[in-house]
Amino acid sequence: MLEMLEQTSNPEISKRLLEKTIQHAKKFEEKYGHKPAFMEVCGSHTMALARTGVKKALQAHVKLISGPGCPVCVTDQKSIDAMIELANGENRIICTFGDMIRVPGTKRTLMEAKTEGADIRIIYSPTDAVRIAEENPTKEVIFLGVGFETTIPILGVALKTAYEKQVKNFSMWVTTKLVEPVLRTLLDAGEVKVDGFMLPGHVSIVLGRKGYQYLVDEYKIPGVITAFEPVELLSGIYHLIDLLLEERVDIINNYKRIVTEDGNPVTQKILETYFKPCDEAWRGLGIIPNSGLDIHDNFANLNAKNRFEVQVGEPKKTKCRCGEIICGLVGPEDCKLFGKACTPANPIGPCMVSGEGSCAAHYQYMREE
Ligand code: SF4
Repeated sequence: MLEMLEQTSNPEISKRLLEKTIQHAKKFEEKYGHKPAFMEVCGSHTMALARTGVKKALQAHVKLISGPGCPVCVTDQKSIDAMIELANGENRIICTFGDMIRVPGTKRTLMEAKTEGADIRIIYSPTDAVRIAEENPTKEVIFLGVGFETTIPILGVALKTAYEKQVKNFSMWVTTKLVEPVLRTLLDAGEVKVDGFMLPGHVSIVLGRKGYQYLVDEYKIPGVITAFEPVELLSGIYHLIDLLLEERVDIINNYKRIVTEDGNPVTQKILETYFKPCDEAWRGLGIIPNSGLDIHDNFANLNAKNRFEVQVGEPKKTKCRCGEIICGLVGPEDCKLFGKACTPANPIGPCMVSGEGSCAAHYQYMREE
């Protein structure tokens, strides 16, 4: 169980922290009559907790619930279908991040569309798509942009580049998501019972510690911003339990080397300049008002939704439970398809496709063989 923890740069500290965290969790259970339950709101945390062995090492004492933090997983089925449909058009080059290409749509995946002849390219930075547009002036180059506050500034940089260079054949189809509206929606619904949040490390670089003050002021629920190494994950969980034992509600910044109080003004400015709030459809949650950012009207020509008409029907229902998984209502093993019909080699839902998905993390690191 501790093998992965032992492979870290601070194995002794990790082991001591693990023991202290377990002791703290026991005190919590004695005091409150249940195990502490925390939701991680970041796909990278979901994968890090599983990969490092922290989740397994703590599972008898702390309930760690994956939340809506994986950008591919939270993208609703209709949006996925629209992106696949977009790839069918004539004279187009579709650029996307790697995970998107394997996410099943109602009829097929982008990978299958590519096999059938669509020009779909995996890129690592949206600005690569601008370059591809410059190199292919007779084609329409469309970048599929999904992501949270972490990724949106990078999309903004690509928009800025295309705008300044006047690259007329480049556009972006964005389906972005914001953390605050979805946390409010989950808390307002009251279906998931959590004692605190492990807040996303990378998103917090943009938002800053104060970006979560609403959790304290309005919901009276604590959170910790933490990084991704075992020592950091464990100390984050330890601090959260500590707050609860002391009956204090606060947001702890356990990632001070990168996350500031107010966030990053440069990235915040990019968000303000290139994007505007919009309603977004979330898998499992439906449309949440003002929960995403669309391209600002000042850059309307760069918005692929203004340039290409895409018609898709209502997606058909499947047995995939990703919608409930991202809301923290069930775990991967509650899905009958997990590990049988649905595996990383043959994924049925986005939570098994994505490198940050709960089902993929559980399959790789948490399954009992
Ligand atoms: Fe969806 Fe597969 Fe996860 Fe089931 S195991 S919820 S089908 S991704």
